[in-house]
This record gives sequence, C-alpha cells and structure tokens, in this order.
Amino acid sequence: MRILIILLTIFAVLFVPVCHCERSEAISAFAKGGPDYIRVGLLFNQSKVSLYSPAGLVLQEKDSPKAIAKGSFSYIVQADTSGFKIDKKKISVLSIVAKSSDFSTPVYLNNKPYRGVLILLLDGKNRITVINYVDFEQYLAGVMGGEVPASWPMEALKAQAVAARTYAVYKITYQPARYFDVYSTDQDQVYGGVLAEHPSLNQAVSETKGEVITYKGRLIKAFFHSTCGGQTEEGGEVFGMPEPYLSGVNDPYCMGTPLRDWLEAFTQDDIKTAFKRLNIDIGAIISITPVMRDKSGRVRVLKIAHSRGVLYLPGYEFRRIMGYRNLRSSYFTVSTRGYIGVNIKKPDDVKDNTSPPKPGDVVTLNSPIGEVTVMRNLRLLIIKSASEISIINFEEPYSAKTQKKRREVSSRGGGMIKKVPYMFVIKGHGWGHGVGMCQWGARGMALKGFDYKHILKYYYNGVEITRIN
Ligand SMILES: [Zn+2]
Repeated sequence: MRILIILLTIFAVLFVPVCHCERSEAISAFAKGGPDYIRVGLLFNQSKVSLYSPAGLVLQEKDSPKAIAKGSFSYIVQADTSGFKIDKKKISVLSIVAKSSDFSTPVYLNNKPYRGVLILLLDGKNRITVINYVDFEQYLAGVMGGEVPASWPMEALKAQAVAARTYAVYKITYQPARYFDVYSTDQDQVYGGVLAEHPSLNQAVSETKGEVITYKGRLIKAFFHSTCGGQTEEGGEVFGMPEPYLSGVNDPYCMGTPLRDWLEAFTQDDIKTAFKRLNIDIGAIISITPVMRDKSGRVRVLKIAHSRGVLYLPGYEFRRIMGYRNLRSSYFTVSTRGYIGVNIKKPDDVKDNTSPPKPGDVVTLNSPIGEVTVMRNLRLLIIKSASEISIINFEEPYSAKTQKKRREVSSRGGGMIKKVPYMFVIKGHGWGHGVGMCQWGARGMALKGFDYKHILKYYYNGVEITRIN
C-alpha cells in the first residue's frame, strides 16, 4: 500500500510541468509527518545503463500500468533521439519507471543494488539521468555505510544517523525546486544503496527514527566532516553561513586518529598543472605563504608569488584546485624542499612585500604589482601589474579576451635564471571542511562514554534533538 502511495506520488510530482507545486507537495508531505521518501540523484549524463532485479524487473511508462518490459533478465537501456531503446527496441517516452515485480527486492543499476524505484529521465542533450525514489529511513541506512565504518561505537553511529537525517530533511524542506533532493556523492552525503547497509548501521537509524537537530525550533544545516584536526571551523568561513550553532569548538576527541595530522608534498609541476586545469596559467612558483588565518587556525588567505605576479586565494579554493583528497584540509603550514633554476622574465614583479587584501578591497600596492581588486568572498581576483592583468574568477575560467591580453604582454621583456623551490611540503591537520560534527571526534566521544545527544550538542552549539513523526 505504501509503495503504491509512493508510486502515485512519484507520478504526480514527475509529470506535472515545472513549477513549485513539486516542492510544495514534498513540503506538505513533510508537514503531514515526515517525508516518506527522498529523491536521490544517482547518475547523470549517461548514454546507457543496465537494469536487473532478481525478483523480475518491470519497466513502465510514466502513467501507464502496462509494462514496456518485464522479466528476470538484465536490460540495457540506451538513450535514443526521441526516447529510449530497451534492448534495441525503440520506446518513445521521456521517462521510464524501473522497479522489481514484488516492490521489495532491490533493483540493480549497473550491477549495484538499490531499494525503492528508479526513474530514468532523458535530459535536453539526450542523455540519461537516474533518480532513486527511496524510503527515507532506507536512504539513511544507505548513507551511513558511505560515511562511517559499521564497527564504530553505537552512540557515534546514532549521532551520524541524526546528523544525516537532519541534513537530508533540511535539503528536502528548504532547497529550491529541483527534480531530485540530494546527490549520492559527497556533494551532499555519500549514498551507496543496499551495499552500504549493515545491521549495526540500520540499528543506529532505527533507534533514532524521526530524530532531527533543531536550533530555536528550526532544522539546522547539519554539516559534518571526517576529522577536524583539533578545532572545528565556523560555518561562515566555508559556506558563508555564520549560524550560531556552527560557531566552531575545540576538539580533543579526535586526537591520535589517522588524519589528525598529515604531510603532503607538491612539486612545482603538481601545482601548476592543477591551476592549468582551470585555465589559470601561473609561472614558476617562488613562494606559497598563508597570510591570513581564521579563528580556527585554517588558512583564510593564501599568497602564491610566482614569476608572473601574485595570487591571493582562500584556503578552501586552494583545496578545490589541488583536489580535496590531495589537500585534505585548509588547516596547514607550508615549507619547501630543494631548489630548481628557472628562467623568469620580470623578477621585479614578484617582490614579496605586499600585505594581503580583504574581500571587497580595492587597494593599490607598491609598484610594480599595481592595483589589486578582490571581489566578495575572494571568488574573483583582479591583479593589474605594470606588465599584465590577471583575472582569476573561480566560478568560471577567465575569458579568451583576458588570455589574449596576457599573451601580448608576456612576450615582452628579457630573462634571467632564478632559483625557486622544487617542492612545497604541506603539514596539515584533519580531513574535510571542518564545519559541524567531527566524525572521528564523535567516535572518540562515544568511546569515552558520551551518548549521541551529548555528542551532537558538543559539535552543534545550543541545539535540541527533536522528533518528527
Ligand atoms: Zn575533531
């Protein structure tokens, strides 16, 4: 019966023209006693997928009870010009519902099992998007395994379950209309479907069923991360959300855990290649210096002096550029190893005597660097020097016009050999953005005998644990 209701709801929300009705429906479902299901974006931009269910797979058109295909085989569904191709048979529809014949057996998408129903949609570029409509608590069970090991103490698992539930309910309730609620990756929470489930993780979900974290009666943005490295971060520093419950705490509980302290080394080429991927062409790197730190000790502004100018960028942007797995946090110091000689055209451009600009500042620095403009949030950086203009926009690669200008000016000038560091050694602490609950710290607290409510209240200041039905 419940599945039928879910399916009817799916049809209702999927096939109404784009408007806010979809969202208000989900919100009213929430208001009626908690969301029954969540829409998880599993795959995007696919040319084909395979589908299978051990109980027999049923593929249906959007609002027809008649099956397009049915059987215990593995089906290959391909995108086609005016619809889909199911095992080479053309079907002129823009969406397909895939479910198991008994509703309860998982459906395998590319050999990976998922509970609930899969919806295949054709996007504007004739590629397939796959959305998993899944019972909300079953979704949480599939998230838990993606986020924490099943072997952790139960109170830490329960704290994770409540944080993950709060995060997801927040997204369903407050995010603007979209055809799915959450990504299945760390863009939101890592969801692995049935493979991520485990009895102890399921127990943590069921023992906290319906519990969410609130601040003054409202759901919180329940951010969490792997390891804070000793001090959690303020929400305002990373997400521009200076919420009172995300104000940052000192954390002795993740002491001694695997990523509390780490070392990483990047060569000149590693760093230049990483910037190049974003169409940012920097010269030989002369120095990398954290010039401003926030209250937690993380790098707020990093200065990179190179042979063509000076870059200032937020620590979290440097993480994004270097890769979140290569540079595990923005809580670090930098030293160098070795030297190499490089030909630098205008060494005077890189005098290391400038003070860092703040977001929104327009400051004129000592010649020859010239004017530096730092836009809000340090996302757009404009450096005008005597010889060139660099515009670094972290939202989009900079324009072709700018590149042309750069080429014209960089062909001028003579050269000289200068010694620059061969390698930059980063000594860092923690893994992740550092905002909200520290997962390894939660484990440490649970080992010391704290219950999950204590754990949550430690990392989210001034909150309550509230039950929604
Ligand atoms: Zn910690």
